[in-house]
Amino acid sequence: MNEIEIHAQVATVDCWSCGAEFIIASAIRLTRGDETAECDIADFTEFPQLAATLSDCLSAIANLGPLKLRHSATVGGSYFSNGCAHCDALFGRHFEIATRNEERLGASFTAPAVDGWGKMLGDLLASNDGHLF
Ligand SMILES: [Zn+2]
Repeated sequence: MNEIEIHAQVATVDCWSCGAEFIIASAIRLTRGDETAECDIADFTEFPQLAATLSDCLSAIANLGPLKLRHSATVGGSYFSNGCAHCDALFGRHFEIATRNEERLGASFTAPAVDGWGKMLGDLLASNDGHLF
């Protein structure tokens, strides 16, 4: 299996800072054959190239907040994150969990495993808590 299937879930949220409604990428599932792992946007922090591909594939969704590195005082560093489409406030990963029952499919695509998707899936499957960040 040389291809990875990527399914990105999105959800509508309200900004904690300015109150605007926008869309976040709430969960991303990577599948190769019968191996599958689900992660969130923060897990892409160590995979900037994959983050850029994901961001491109979701760019057609109106009102999606920019996916990029943002500084978090809570974490004490920067991580790849969702943020408000209006004011760019960081939408922290712990808020993402609250959106789980309102998710819908935002985009799905396949990508060559050699581009790094295979490594990311392997790392996710090998991690103790299912996350890389
Ligand atoms: Zn905002």
